[in-house]
Amino acid sequence: MHTKKIISLFFIISICFSFLFMYVSTSAHKKEESTLIGKTIFIDAGHGGKDDGASADGVLEDYINLKISGYLYEALIDSGAYVLVSRTSDYDLASMYQKNRKREDLKNRVKYINASKTDLFISIHLNAYKTDSVNGAQVFFQDNIKSNLLATHIQNQLNKITKKERKIKKGDYYILNNSTRVGVLVECGFLSNELERKKLNTEEYQRQIAKMIKKGIVDFFNS
Ligand SMILES: [Zn+2]
Repeated sequence: MHTKKIISLFFIISICFSFLFMYVSTSAHKKEESTLIGKTIFIDAGHGGKDDGASADGVLEDYINLKISGYLYEALIDSGAYVLVSRTSDYDLASMYQKNRKREDLKNRVKYINASKTDLFISIHLNAYKTDSVNGAQVFFQDNIKSNLLATHIQNQLNKITKKERKIKKGDYYILNNSTRVGVLVECGFLSNELERKKLNTEEYQRQIAKMIKKGIVDFFNS
């Protein structure tokens, strides 16, 4: 074959592959976008108010939980989901004169989740540990198959950005144990690890975490 013909053939094949790639990626994108239409998702930003949650070097868990939850809210709304949240600012859910604020706060979160009849809920948290080398995100599930599946999909997505192969774990948390809706609790990273703390404190990483949680939710509904 002449060199010119070979070049033309190569050119035509390249164009065909480009169109095929565009078609496949557009289809995948459309599927991802349409999956969430009409779905109800409850986002619970952990802690708030007097309860800062975990902290390290002046970085507070409740603040970053709220930021990640906000970006997740945006991402889900953009894809047509109906999204409910437990809080939108720095407060807890206990009544003004309640002595045991922590207990009432958690009780109210569960009450709102159960009353919402949401398809699923995601409780956003950060971790801290005495050994500062420990890092990575981990998803905790309720004792049921759907929660396990949801946790698996979110964990798979989060492992891509944390570059860790963390496994899901059954969680003994009030919100998981007492909710009648399917849900998971996501520990998005360790504030006790300096490198992860610095990343978690950036908008870029908060948005990335939110994006991966959303992908996990989409995978769950598509599975
Ligand atoms: Zn927490």
